[in-house]
Amino acid sequence: MKRIAEIAIPVSLALDETFDYRIPARCRSNLAVGCRVRVPFGRRQLIGYVTAFKRTSPYEKKLKPLAECLDPHGPLLNDRLISLAHFLSREYFCSLAQGFETVLPRPLRMSMGHIATTVSDDTPSSLNPLTQEETALLDRLDPPKNIYVVEDVSGNARWKAYLALVKSTLAQGKDVLVLVPDYAMIAHAREQLKTGIAACVISSHEKPAVVRNSWTKAQQKTGVLVIGTRSAIFSPVRRPGLIIVDQEGHFAYRQQQVPNYHIRDIALKIAQAEEAKLVFGAVVPSLEAFALVERQEASLLSCGEPQTAPRITIVDMQQEFVPKGHTKMVSKVLEFRVAELLEKKEKMLFFVPQKGFSTFLYCPRCKKSVECERCSSPVAYYRSVKRLICPACHLEKEARDICPTCSAAYVRYSGFGIEKVESELRRLFPSVRVVQFSKTAEPAGSYDIMLATQEILEDPDVFRHSFDRIVLVSADLMLGRPDFRATEDAFRRFLTLSRITKGELIIQTKIPEHYVWGFLKTQDTAGFLKKELEERRELKLPPVVRLGILTTRAAAEPVALSAAKRAFRILKTSLKRHATAAEIFEPQPARPFKLRGNFRYQMLIKYKELGETEKALRRIVCGRRSGVIATFDPARE
Ligand SMILES: [Zn+2]
Ligand SMILES: [Zn+2]
Repeated sequence: MKRIAEIAIPVSLALDETFDYRIPARCRSNLAVGCRVRVPFGRRQLIGYVTAFKRTSPYEKKLKPLAECLDPHGPLLNDRLISLAHFLSREYFCSLAQGFETVLPRPLRMSMGHIATTVSDDTPSSLNPLTQEETALLDRLDPPKNIYVVEDVSGNARWKAYLALVKSTLAQGKDVLVLVPDYAMIAHAREQLKTGIAACVISSHEKPAVVRNSWTKAQQKTGVLVIGTRSAIFSPVRRPGLIIVDQEGHFAYRQQQVPNYHIRDIALKIAQAEEAKLVFGAVVPSLEAFALVERQEASLLSCGEPQTAPRITIVDMQQEFVPKGHTKMVSKVLEFRVAELLEKKEKMLFFVPQKGFSTFLYCPRCKKSVECERCSSPVAYYRSVKRLICPACHLEKEARDICPTCSAAYVRYSGFGIEKVESELRRLFPSVRVVQFSKTAEPAGSYDIMLATQEILEDPDVFRHSFDRIVLVSADLMLGRPDFRATEDAFRRFLTLSRITKGELIIQTKIPEHYVWGFLKTQDTAGFLKKELEERRELKLPPVVRLGILTTRAAAEPVALSAAKRAFRILKTSLKRHATAAEIFEPQPARPFKLRGNFRYQMLIKYKELGETEKALRRIVCGRRSGVIATFDPARE
């Protein structure tokens, strides 16, 4: 008989504990592992998750009864999701309760009442049969592996392959999960995947009622097509036969809070357990996906017709004369070139990596840069709104020309963002029609030059072949970001830009000898990824090893430092004692050191297996009053 339930409760601390509760007689028959329950906790009533049952408890006499079973018709979570909650807790060092909260969508998690168990069904629908073209495509696709890494050389061709795979999986009565990086892409995916049956949408941006309905439908029906964003990977479908992760390298696929899982790891886990097919699709595969191909765990497929390689022109900025203390946005070479092209009525895109006008301000007297008052991050100046904005915390301030450190009456505005490039173009070519990219901009609008930041790359198909030339104003800002994925990200963007242009991509750089340019000129993605993987092997960086970042933070700097030192000591000792082949590095100030009023220290740990040290790390991250946050293989912000 079920007497006592072990309950994981999401309390404010990342407590790695479960709590015992007595099961009242009225709940006994329908309480199961995975059920949500309401329990008294101190003076509060909280929602927890049943993780196990037991006959006795060391706290037998003091046990309180749980108040209510919130899922009397059976748990919302199936066995797969319960095991994924455990997987998250184990792999990403979070509490079990946080694991449960992650696999259950917010609208379901929060509801205190019972959840309807009947689905309000849509109009009856039937699956369209596969066309001849699709059958032929599937025959070609038939590799021995269950994981495909799809490289789309023409931009949108992969969706045809997706559709054929989706239809053939649904025809077998199995379920399909299609994941896209952001909510805006869901409409596009639905448009591309017209199978004859209605798709269920699951996303944290969707209306709660829709998510609830989709969730119940996925749980009860067979042959379900789920389309959604990151959290939809935790759909309760019964027989997943196919998982598609589109634009798999997109940073939105990594959760930024604890547990900071990547959808790729979850998808691999499900595919393995359920023997489902898994597709990672992208314009350029991520290094993680490419490593699967290199280890022969996945097949690489190319979709679409390769185009003739665009012309890539490198403008060497080292050859440019720049007066001391000045930044040059448009070189003389480029200026003459642009004048000539404008004469020929050519349409151009200027791609500028950074927003705003000036990217940093500094005082010539005390040599300090102007920083955000909450972060140690230099603020940028936005001329359009005449304000200073912190790139780390987005705090806005009125722009003033007085140095906050020494009160000198003059600060220098330095570095350049898109607004400054715009004003420079207007100065150089006064009669030219210049516009800034906006999401509603017409590709064929009336302008000569369009300026854009990376927003234009979110939907590159809209602008494909709209520009005769594309100018990359400063490639070095992208290559030089302090992030081990900087080169990989930059290459992906350069390649996308080169495929949007009708004719030529012109690149201004101070490092014309960098290896990316060669691979870009030949459009050799595989070659680039191989080279990049070698670099990561050399430097021992993901995906070759796992990189854990432990962050401590506190309003008082010594508190953050001593917590970091303590964690470092414990881990170092444990690694030594167990002779584990992992590396740990001394705590360093994080970048930015101060963020939203907190001082932060970080230490890195690189490993393949942590062995016994896993327990020590778990205690550090999930212990009482921990204050240590663990992130893994961090994605770019
Ligand atoms: Zn000063
Ligand atoms: Zn800030």
